[in-house]
Amino acid sequence: MENCIFCKILRGEIPSKKLYEDELCLAFYDIAPLAPQHFLVIPKEHIKAANRIDKSNEAVVGHIFTVIGNLTSVLGFSDGYRVVTNCGKDAGQTVEHLHFHVLGGKELGSFN
Ligand code: 5GP
Ligand code: ZN
Repeated sequence: MENCIFCKILRGEIPSKKLYEDELCLAFYDIAPLAPQHFLVIPKEHIKAANRIDKSNEAVVGHIFTVIGNLTSVLGFSDGYRVVTNCGKDAGQTVEHLHFHVLGGKELGSFN
């Protein structure tokens, strides 16, 4: 997508601190971390949000969770981590390209 920030990161038009990349997804550090460790994992395909996941693109979501498991293990999130995806206005989604926040490195407290 032409004007999507995360598509621009995927194309290398906006710099990012990359953690991992394969044919289906990219993991990179969030520019405004909300925890000592905070990275994002995005599909390379432009999917607008979680409510646009369907039979045609669902496989990448499972793949992303496998990648998250591997990365958190390598990075030593041994005491746990949180995965969040904001979907739409009420959830505060600011970038309309599906992304999974991975937060860790401290006790995160209850979610609400
Ligand atoms: P959302 O609020 O949509 O769930 O999350 C979007 C996230 O993308 C935010 O945490 C924000 O800090 C991050 N973000 C926005 N623009 C950029 C950018 O250009 N580079 C990186 N690395 N993160 C970004
Ligand atoms: Zn995009």
